Formats: sequence, structure tokens, C-alpha cells
Amino acid sequence: MFMPVGTRGTVRTQTLPQLQQLRTLGAPMLLANTYHLLLRPGIEVFEQFGGLHRFMGWDGAILTDSGGFQVFSLAHSRTIDDAGAAFQGVQDGPRTVLSPERSIEMQRAIGSDVMMVMDHCIDATCSEAEARDAMERTHRWARRSLAARGASSQQLFAIIQGARFPALRRESALDLTSLDGFDGYAIGGLAVGEEREEREAITELVAALLPDDRPRYLMGVGTPNDILEAVHRGVDMFDCIMPTAWAQHGRVFTSTGELDLRKGSFKLADEALDPACGCEACTRHSRAYLHHLVKCQEPLGWQLLANHNLHYYVRMMADIRVAIASGSFGELYAARRRA
Ligand SMILES: [Zn+2]
Repeated sequence: MFMPVGTRGTVRTQTLPQLQQLRTLGAPMLLANTYHLLLRPGIEVFEQFGGLHRFMGWDGAILTDSGGFQVFSLAHSRTIDDAGAAFQGVQDGPRTVLSPERSIEMQRAIGSDVMMVMDHCIDATCSEAEARDAMERTHRWARRSLAARGASSQQLFAIIQGARFPALRRESALDLTSLDGFDGYAIGGLAVGEEREEREAITELVAALLPDDRPRYLMGVGTPNDILEAVHRGVDMFDCIMPTAWAQHGRVFTSTGELDLRKGSFKLADEALDPACGCEACTRHSRAYLHHLVKCQEPLGWQLLANHNLHYYVRMMADIRVAIASGSFGELYAARRRA
């Protein structure tokens, strides 16, 4: 499945009825970000409202990341040691500490259906020694996260680290799958600037070491083709901001290829964006009108195209599930993959 990214308790530009429609088409779970929700609106709001489901009105499932990735990619004046990460959410703002225990506490308050352990994310260009250090810390934090989960009925996924080093990836997968209590496993630390071949090789190596009876989640990946390649290597779950982020710039995925609606060639295009798609943009508007909205930077253009791109991803995953269930995924993969 593909999880639309609902960073701050909203999938950017999408209304609740649109999310519910996507849910009926096959997107049962949203991804929310603990880091952002911890900074704003803050834990007390989720305690008051009894969690994010009720706060945003979403009765589908929610997966929360641990906040670790954002601490490493967004935070100011960050310091990190075994205790956790201390950082400023905004420049010159108050110092916040995120630890494995604090992350679980926050995710319990958010009330997500699936929680993620806090992991130590590092740059794709790090040395093997740095990668080992971060991986071993990730393993220690995974144990603390299991302990912090207590009696919570929320599921908890571990995150395999090890950067681009096959030996470390193998070690990480073996260590984390040896622990009792994880409901699923994520492959972290990819989609951060490594080569595509490297990512696919690591995905293949790690997926082969994970138990068959637990979901595997490749974090932050990717393009439709990246997802197809990862499914081929045994991954089940995905999230990516591309559908909404591309839409903001007038870029869409269609059944006949990618389009850039900023281009002047769409000015008079009196046809549907994608005749194979049943979304609002495709059934009610012409390419010319959508091009016009994009050129004027109208919020409705972003809104409609984001909804279309999400439809595209969700429909692709539905096709993949049908193919897997009927034993014809190999044919779908061969027909759709981009060499
Ligand atoms: Zn559409």
C-alpha cells in the first residue's frame, strides 16, 4: 500500500472527503510526523482530543514516524548522544529533547495505529565507521522503544539502518529481527541521495532477511517506478511526498507518462488529463483549464493535481495487489517497469 503523507495532520491541500475517497480506493493509512506534531500543536492538544484521529476527523489508520528523520534533516543546533537528540525546532527557539522514550510517549498521545522506533539517521555519504556508530545506536534505541511501548496496543515497527554498506545492513536486519515484539520492519536511511542501483541492491538484500509474516516498509520512496522495483524486491508499504509536491509545480503522473502542465502546449488542450483516471481533475476539467490554474498559481490547481497524483499512486498499488493475488505480478512488472 501507499500511505499519503499527512505531515501535520493534513495531507497537503486534500479535504477529508477526498482522503476518504482515496481510502475506499485502497489507501487505508496516512503517515503523520511526530516531530512536526510535537512542535505544533503540541502533545497537550492530542491528550485533550484523545489523539490525532479525532482531532483531524480521520477514521482510517495512521502511522507515525518517530521524529528522528526530521531532527536530523530540519532541526537547528542539534546535538546527539545515546540519551537522544537535543535540538531547536526553530532558530533561537527553546531546546527540545527527543529520546526513544519521548518519541513513543508522543506517538502514544497521537494514538497512531503504527508507531516507529526512533532511529539515528545519517547522510548517505557517511563513512562506514559513522554508519556503524549510527546503526548500533539505532539498535540500542530499538530496545528502549520496545520497553517504552509498555502495554500499548499500538503496533511498533523497527527500522533497519546501515547506510549503503551491505555488511551493516545485514547485521542490522539480523539484530532487529532477533528481538521479540516488533509488528513490522522498515528500511530506513534510503532515498537520501544514494544511487538508484545502490538503493535497489540494499532493498533486495534487506527484504530477503525480513520475516515473511510481517509488513516491510520502505521509508520515503519514491517515484512510481521506484515503488514498482521495491515491490518486486519484496516491500509492502510506501510513503512519499511526491504526489502532492509535484502537483504544487504542475507536474502529474498519468497512465501514458508524466506531464508538466506549466508548458504552453496545454493552453488549448481540450482533453482530459488522464482518461484512465476517475478523479475530479480528470472527469470535470480539461488540460487547458488545469494548465490555466497552474499558470496563475491558483490553490485549486495544486489541490486538483495533488488529488489526481494521489489517485494515480493509489490505483497503481491496487493494480499491484490484484496482480500479486492472481499470480501475475511478474507480467505487470515487466510491462510497466522503466529500465
Ligand atoms: Zn485524475
